[in-house]
Amino acid sequence: MTNSSPEHSAVAIRAAFLRSVPEVRRHVREVRAQGGQIALVPTMGALHDGHLALVRSSAARGEHVIVSVFVNPAQFAPHEDLDRYPRQESADIALALDAGARAIFAPTAADVYPDGFATTIEVGGPSRGFEGALRPNHFAGVATVVAKLLLIVRPDRLVLGQKDAQQVAVVRQMLRDLNLDDIDLVVHPIVREDDGVAMSSRNRYLNPDQRRAARAMPASLRAAQHEIDAGETDAQRIAAAARRVLEEAVGVRPEYAAVVDPDTFSPLAQLDGPAVLCVAARVGPTRLLDNAVLIPT
Ligand code: AMP
Repeated sequence: MTNSSPEHSAVAIRAAFLRSVPEVRRHVREVRAQGGQIALVPTMGALHDGHLALVRSSAARGEHVIVSVFVNPAQFAPHEDLDRYPRQESADIALALDAGARAIFAPTAADVYPDGFATTIEVGGPSRGFEGALRPNHFAGVATVVAKLLLIVRPDRLVLGQKDAQQVAVVRQMLRDLNLDDIDLVVHPIVREDDGVAMSSRNRYLNPDQRRAARAMPASLRAAQHEIDAGETDAQRIAAAARRVLEEAVGVRPEYAAVVDPDTFSPLAQLDGPAVLCVAARVGPTRLLDNAVLIPT
């Protein structure tokens, strides 16, 4: 081949299914040799339109999108849903390719954590409260696997969803602390169903009544924004408005509602700068998360 322009290379490198680390490295070398910009979209599979929006927007920017599909055992506690987490590898491959991914990396747990694996990345700061407090080893599991994926793929861009706002803060902290800050972190807004419920692989666990009850999550965010629109700037009162909606909803057990700094995840007293309202609740046995970037009036 004589023409190695990026447009040409997009055609030359076939869509790839990658299982092993050496396969990824070979694939990435080929893409790099032809000048492609690589975006990594890490997922746990069971892909829905929320995940696919991340893929589509990177593909639309002309990036060579690699989607990783790995249900990471290290971020689940023993009593959590690792065993029943939805898995649908062939459907995920088709969905990701259709959305514009150029490669799927689906390693086995034994490849990611071979016998004798003994390293954990423990991020302090934003991983301490909220999800970190309720799920003690969760963010260490997330940080470790994201660091591994970044070191395997070495992408130009890492694409995460705002759906997991605290995860974004933890990964941002890790990128800074480990001098991985030459990787551009892109955060995609939350993709919602028509009734406002944030898309999530765990929504599949909900029966019809529970799915209806889940509408309390976006409703709680709207109630808080309503307070802000009426002039409220006290963060606790704003969070309380959200919590009230969750408490009043039948079948919903609120866990937290808090207004936090998006980078440190420390609770704020006043809404006078960047802020995120995070809510978590159980609907039946299923934990749901949602959040909104708050806009002061
Ligand atoms: P998961 O498979 O749940 O680990 O999610 C993989 C990535 O997709 C994470 O960066 C999530 O934040 C993102 N994501 C999941 N659901 C949504 C959604 N509804 N809107 C935007 N991003 C999402």
